[in-house]
Amino acid sequence: MKLLVEFDRKFEDFYRHYQEKDGTLKYNEMIKNIQINKASSIEIYYEDLLDFSPYLARHLIENPEPIVEDAENALDNILRGYSKGEVKKGYVNFIPSEIVSDIIIPITELRAKHNAKLVGIKGNIIAKQRPKIQIKKACFKCQLCGATFKAKKTTARVQKPSRCITINCKARKSDFKYVKKENEYNRTQEILVQTLPNDIHCGQNRIKVNLNEDLMKIARKGTNVFIWGIYIILIKSRSDYESHIDAVGIKTI
Ligand SMILES: [Zn+2]
Repeated sequence: MKLLVEFDRKFEDFYRHYQEKDGTLKYNEMIKNIQINKASSIEIYYEDLLDFSPYLARHLIENPEPIVEDAENALDNILRGYSKGEVKKGYVNFIPSEIVSDIIIPITELRAKHNAKLVGIKGNIIAKQRPKIQIKKACFKCQLCGATFKAKKTTARVQKPSRCITINCKARKSDFKYVKKENEYNRTQEILVQTLPNDIHCGQNRIKVNLNEDLMKIARKGTNVFIWGIYIILIKSRSDYESHIDAVGIKTI
């Protein structure tokens, strides 16, 4: 828990203090402009992050899920400071970079060993589903200690957590009450990305990719894209599994 707070603060520092050569506070300006442009996301260039904090940049590659969440929490904190009213949730698009060449994997070469890791894929968008609203975090109340908390939804159906967030609370699965009305939702869109013609590898040549909010705008059917995302394998039965990528960044190529 301590570690996450540390990352969170580092992202706030990055947004507030990253300076271009001419002295422009690039991300500070970008965040100020979010409300003016009625947008909900900012674009982070990996090279900037690497320049500001090699530590953060490395952790984004090695441990993408909490880092992306912290980057978004830090963005929300700053947005709340700028606005007195209700603040729309902010999203971050980590623009994929060629610098980290070892995470770029041909679609045909995605394997179980890539599960939960950050991967870079290149391909053509051959299909696009309608956007849908889904539960991002499910809310639970512990009936033993009274704590209310949100847990990321990682399975197809909402499942009660196996332990409480309160240290020393002995609550078990059956002690948690699902508080549906406090859930956190987000809009996602599924696209199907097919390997580019120059990929000579054999194997499954297409992959489903989930895009959040503003990332959807970049994705048009027929375009070639470079995507950074977290590769997820969901086991359906002993012999059947499904895989997809939760995008954290996308750019057209
Ligand atoms: Zn508890």
